[in-house]
Amino acid sequence: MQTSGMTDRKWDLIVVGAGLTGVAAAVSARRMGMEVLLIEKAGFAGGAPATCLINPFMPYSTRRDGKKFALSRGFFAELQTILRDTGGYQGDPREELHEEYVKLAMDRLLVREGVQPLFHACLCGVEKGGETITAVKVASKCGVMTFRAKYFIDCTGDADLAMMAGCPFRLGRDEDHLCQPMTLCFRIGNIDIPTLDKNRPLMQKLYKQFQEEGKIRNPRENVLMFYTHVDGMMHFNTTRVIKLDPTNPFDVTQAEMLAREQMFELYHFLRDNVPGCEKSQLLYSASEIGVRESRMIIGEYVLTQEDLINCVKFEDRIAAGNYDIDIHNPAGSGTSHYYFKDGTWYTIPYRALLPQNADNLLVAGRCISATHEAQASIRIMPIVATLGHAAGVAAGLAGKTGVGVKEIDVKQLQGQLESEGAFIG
Ligand SMILES: Cc1cc2nc3c(=O)[nH]c(=O)nc-3n(C[C@H](O)[C@H](O)[C@H](O)COP(=O)(O)OP(=O)(O)OC[C@H]3O[C@@H](n4cnc5c(N)ncnc54)[C@H](O)[C@@H]3O)c2cc1C
Repeated sequence: MQTSGMTDRKWDLIVVGAGLTGVAAAVSARRMGMEVLLIEKAGFAGGAPATCLINPFMPYSTRRDGKKFALSRGFFAELQTILRDTGGYQGDPREELHEEYVKLAMDRLLVREGVQPLFHACLCGVEKGGETITAVKVASKCGVMTFRAKYFIDCTGDADLAMMAGCPFRLGRDEDHLCQPMTLCFRIGNIDIPTLDKNRPLMQKLYKQFQEEGKIRNPRENVLMFYTHVDGMMHFNTTRVIKLDPTNPFDVTQAEMLAREQMFELYHFLRDNVPGCEKSQLLYSASEIGVRESRMIIGEYVLTQEDLINCVKFEDRIAAGNYDIDIHNPAGSGTSHYYFKDGTWYTIPYRALLPQNADNLLVAGRCISATHEAQASIRIMPIVATLGHAAGVAAGLAGKTGVGVKEIDVKQLQGQLESEGAFIG
C-alpha cells in the first residue's frame, strides 16, 4: 500500500481507537457519506473484547409490558447480527464473545463499508489551531506520520486524543483519583467442569483462607470465572491490580507484571487444591491488561450518579442504559452495586460527548464526560457501541453543513439515530 496518498489527503473524519465504539463511529459516519480513516494501535479492530478477552456483553435490556425490552439497539443490534453471522457468538443466550471471530467480523465490516483502517499506529500527537484540531500524529513503523481531517472522534477509551488536544479531563474518583482496578483476563483448560461446579463453595472458602494466610496476594474478594465455548475451558476475570494509574506507562508495566503473578498464583491454587482442576492447564492470557476506568473528559455536561439514579431523560439524549453502577473497589477488596428497577432506564446527553476547548472533536466510549460513579455503569460494551453510533452520526451531520460538532441540530441527530434503529430513551 502506498503511504503517500494516504498521508497527503485530508480526510473528512479521523476516528482514533478501533474498539466497538470506534468501529460504530467510523461505520456510522461513513454511511453519512464521510471518507473515514480509523487509526488503531493493535493489529486488529474490536478493542477490549479482542485485546483484553472481555466478554460477555453485560445486560442491556429491561422489562416493559411484561416483555424483554432492549435499551442498546441501532448499530449495536446490527453488530450483534454481524457477530452471530460470522460465528462470533458462541454461547447464546449468554452472548459469549469469541475474540477471533470478533476481529474477523470487524475486518469484514470495515472493508464492506469502505472505512480505511490503519493498524499498528499509535496516536502520539495533535496539531491544533485555536479550538480546531487540524491533524493527528501517529507513531508507526514509518516513524511519525501526520494525518489531517475536518473532524475527529476520540474512541481510545483513555481520551488520549482529547488529552493531547488540551481538553480538560478527570482521572478516577474525585477524592484520590484512583481508578477501578485493572484486570488481566485469562483462560484455563482441561478442567473437569462438573466436578469444579460441585466444589465451587469449597473453592471460594479455600480462596479466602489462602488470602488470610498470605498465600494469595490478589485483593479480589472471590474467584470470578465464566464458562466458555470450549469444553473444559473456563474464562477468568479475577486478577485485580489496584492503586496504579492506567495512563502512566510505568504503572501499566507494573500492573501487567503483578497481574501475571496473580494469574499463576490462582492457577497453582486451583490445580493443587480444588477438585476438578487437578489436570488443568493454563492456556493463555489477554494481550493487554484490561482497563475499566482511566481519563474521562470534563465536557459540556458531566453525567453523574444522581442523573442515573433519577433516570433523568435529557433533552439532548442520544443513548440509554440501566446496567448497574458496578464499582470494583479501586483500593482493595469488594465490589459495590446499585441496581436499577425493572422497567427503568437513564439516558446519556449528547453534551457528554463534547469536550471543552475543541470545536471539531467528539469523544465516545468509556471516556465520555462522566463521574467515576456514572462511568461505572455506562462503560459496558453495549452502551459504548451506542455512543459510537451517536458520535459517528453527529460527525456526519456536522460534515454535511460544515458546522462545528457543538452546533449541529440535536433533534436531527436524534431523528437520524432513531431512523437507524437506536433507542434513545
Ligand atoms: C476486566 C474488564 C472486564 C469487563 N467486563 C465486561 C463485561 O463482561 N461486559 C461488558 O459489556 N463490558 C465489560 N467491561 C467494560 C468494557 O469492556 C469496556 O468498558 C468497553 O469495551 C470500552 O470500549 P471502548 O471502545 O471505549 O474502549 P476499548 O474497547 O478499549 O477500545 C479502545 C481502542 O483504542 C485503541 N487505542 C487506545 N489508545 C490508542 C492510541 N493512543 N492510538 C491508537 N489506538 C489507541 C485500543 O487499542 C482499543 O482498540 C469490562 C472491562 C474490563 C477492563
